[in-house]
Order: sequence, then C-alpha cells, then structure tokens
Amino acid sequence: MKTMQAAQLTEIGKPLEVVEVPVPEPGAEDILVRVRAAGICSSDLHYQEGRSEVTKLPIIQGHEISGEVAGCGKNVEGLKGGDRVSLFYLATCGKCMMCATGNDNYCDKAKMLGKNIDGGFAEFVIVPARNAFPFPETIPFPQAALITDAVATPFHALKRAAVQTGESVLIIGIGGLGIHAVQIAKIMGAGQVIAMDLEDDKLDLALKVGATAAINPKRDNVEDKIAAITGGIGVNVAVELIGLPITIRQAIDCTGLGGRTVVVGICPDEVILNPYHDLLLRERTIMGSADQCRADFPVIIEMAVQKRLDLSHSVSHELPLKDINKGLEMLKKKDQNLVRIVVTFP
Ligand SMILES: [Zn+2]
Ligand SMILES: [Zn+2]
Repeated sequence: MKTMQAAQLTEIGKPLEVVEVPVPEPGAEDILVRVRAAGICSSDLHYQEGRSEVTKLPIIQGHEISGEVAGCGKNVEGLKGGDRVSLFYLATCGKCMMCATGNDNYCDKAKMLGKNIDGGFAEFVIVPARNAFPFPETIPFPQAALITDAVATPFHALKRAAVQTGESVLIIGIGGLGIHAVQIAKIMGAGQVIAMDLEDDKLDLALKVGATAAINPKRDNVEDKIAAITGGIGVNVAVELIGLPITIRQAIDCTGLGGRTVVVGICPDEVILNPYHDLLLRERTIMGSADQCRADFPVIIEMAVQKRLDLSHSVSHELPLKDINKGLEMLKKKDQNLVRIVVTFP
C-alpha cells in the first residue's frame, strides 16, 4: 500500500500530528491530486481550537490547495496527469437545485475539504473532478493555492455587495484576504478603496496594491477619517474580514445612506443593532458572505493570468509540512509581516 505524509487534527485543542497514512483512492468521478501548495487560513485555527466544528476526527486539515493531477477516476474527462489545478474546496453534490443554479456554496450536501473531509495538508488529496480548475505555468503553485480562498472569498463577498463604478469601498482587516479584497474592489471599478488595520505594515502593503487611503484605529479617529475621505457621506460598501463585534459595528457605522456591509469574518458573538437608526433611516443592508462558487474560479484565474491581480506580495512565508504547527502558531500570534503562510511540497 502506498502511503503519504499528512498533518492530522486528532483532538480539538491539540497541535496537528504529522503522520503516515495511506494514499486515498479516487472514486469514478474524482481525481487524485499531488498537493504542491496549501495555504494556512485563520479558519484552520478556528477548527483546531473548536470555535468552528470539524465533523470528523482525525481529519487532515487544509482547504486552500493547488497541485498536479496524479490520477483520474474512470468517468473523468478533460483532465490528465500533470495538469496544474486549483481546487474549489466544497465537494458539492452537483445535482441539487442550488448546484444547478450556480449557488453551489448553498448545496446542503457540500463537504468542505479540511473540515468535513480530508484536505490538503498532505502529499495527496482526493476531490471531485469538477472541483479542479486548471491554471497555466505563469502562476506559481503557492499563488494558485491562494486563489481558492484568500482571493475567492473576498471576490465572492464583493460580488455580493455589487460594487458599482466609482463607489467607495472600505476593507476592514488587511491580512491574507484583505490584500486581495483591495485589489478586487479596484478591478470592479471602485473609486476610493480604504484599507483599515491595526498594523502599519499591513496598511503600507494595502497602499502598495492599490488602496487609496489607510486608516489605523490605534491612531486615527475612524469616524472622522471616513467623513474626511468621503466628504461626510460614508462609504458605499464595507467588507468586514476580521469577525469581531467591534469591527462589524465599525463596518456598519462607516457606511452611508444605502450602504452595504458584508460580513465575512467568523464572529459567533452578538452585535448590538438599532434597526431604526442602523437600517431603516439609512436604508442600509447588512449581508453575509460565505465561501465562494465554482463560477468564481475561471474569472479569478483569468484576472491572475492577465496580471490584473497582483499575487506577488501575497505569500509571505513558505514552510514544509513538518513545520505546519509552527505556521499555525505564527498565525495565532499574528507575527509581523505575515500575509499568507503556505505549506509547500517539493
Ligand atoms: Zn479559509
Ligand atoms: Zn448540491
């Protein structure tokens, strides 16, 4: 039996264990992918620490994956060994009404890689063939891994907000997702793109990739600064990528008349809302955005191929699988100059 190295979560609250497990066998509609890069996401910390529930233990974590096709099930067409692919992390049924209408992130049979089924912190992973999106050699594997979540998640959120030409967009939280949210807002035609974060190095990075203004709440009065930037009217769209009641509240407060707030950060706590002042009087919308859709992938890959998306600043650290817990620890401690840590495989 062929075996592989994999980082498993065996118990909530414990570090991952790097173990030797059998290489999985693809089903008729699946492909076997040799993982080349897998990003470490804040969600991985939520799973490890039990704030967001994994549905099987032990589980191989990792949902932000790129690699090469290493084997195809007997019904798979259009893919062959060696193809470079990014993987949509929801293994959906492909048959229900939600899947059929392009809302595959609503598929109630969806299983997420690294949360419900084994993921990409391993030498090999199995996914349905329709989850694989080929990309050319011009995109390195670590950047192609980020496409699947760190890019696709804010892309989906900004698509939900339906950013119009010239609108102002506030991005709260400039980490692995925020750096891409800034760029995507620009591509979608936003006028002002305002980055907000507590770290000045993150804000510098946001300005480098196209933000038009930066706010550091440690130093700036957020309300005054937003008013100054937007001529007193507030932003059209605010995207919250952190998941704290205070930043969700800030996002809502920064939007103006008819403003849209998109909550992407995982926040299991309650946020106080005054429906009359916060919603009715200002006709504001507060919406959630979860995951992404298959349909988002070809668009994002094309933006990366055309270099409209600059992914060259996105991977701040590369680590081998054996150092995975070091990576998770760095993310937990919010190490300086950390954008995205990617586990890479030779
Ligand atoms: Zn993630
Ligand atoms: Zn479905």
